[in-house]
Amino acid sequence: MTHRTRELSERRGGLPLEEVSCYLCGEAPKSLLVDDPPFKVWLCGSCGLGFTSPRVRADRLEDIYDLGYFSSESAGDFGYASYAEDATGYFRTFERKADILARHLPKGKVLEVGCAAGFFLKVLEKRGYDVHGVEVAGSIVTHARDTLKLKNIFHGPLEEYPGEKGSFDAVMFWDVIEHLPDPIAVLKLARTYLKPGGWLFLQTQDVSSLTRRALGAKWTHFKQLEHVWHFSPSTARELLSRAHFDVVEIRKRGAGKDISIGFVIDRVKRFSRVLHHIARLFSPWARNFVYVNPWDEIVVSAKSRVD
Ligand SMILES: [Zn+2]
Repeated sequence: MTHRTRELSERRGGLPLEEVSCYLCGEAPKSLLVDDPPFKVWLCGSCGLGFTSPRVRADRLEDIYDLGYFSSESAGDFGYASYAEDATGYFRTFERKADILARHLPKGKVLEVGCAAGFFLKVLEKRGYDVHGVEVAGSIVTHARDTLKLKNIFHGPLEEYPGEKGSFDAVMFWDVIEHLPDPIAVLKLARTYLKPGGWLFLQTQDVSSLTRRALGAKWTHFKQLEHVWHFSPSTARELLSRAHFDVVEIRKRGAGKDISIGFVIDRVKRFSRVLHHIARLFSPWARNFVYVNPWDEIVVSAKSRVD
């Protein structure tokens, strides 16, 4: 057990937990998807939302996003391996997402909530968008500001963001809403920064996907510390509707990731020790990238409802 893994498991034990019911319809937990003590992941029998219960108590969830989250030795279990080092892969991935966005909004003033190291905003800046970002993790904000030279990055929660209300053409949440204890409140708040009829773009994992069904509890998106909800196309529609957005398009094409062979080797650890030894034979090509789309994530494009 590495120091990092030990630290994370101690942290699992140290954080207060709480039991929750379905966020969208209030139903009690029904079918069990994952039993990963002290956590369990359930699928709501009524609306199909996946949710972790018990989970880390809502007021302590932010405690898990520190420097360790973005550069973790145990990335197969938690966070991302060498987030900043894998820049090439992130830029390629976000070029695909920028293509999706550009089909609806070819230029404009955009706000990314949870912009992390700023790769997506950098891609959009190069394409001529006016880019702004909000991020709670201070360590990664430094990368966005200093390495990528992004000027308009706010360090703090959206609740404290001083940007001008009603001035943005789009707000974006990339792999963010599944982490938020109350995503409807955050989406409603983000909507106040939009012009009337402005766009929302988000990506999240699809718990109804064949990949999740095939992999069962070993699905890579089951990260019990951080993923408190697991949406699907239908529950994402319901979520956005409650935050006063109308879904225009839900795509799986282009929702994959360009990942390094090194990252794949790291991830294989989750599945089998033997496979991991075989995968390590590919270590000399660790810095090469492949596009992988397991069809288990969705990119949602939606418009703010004009009240
Ligand atoms: Zn439900």
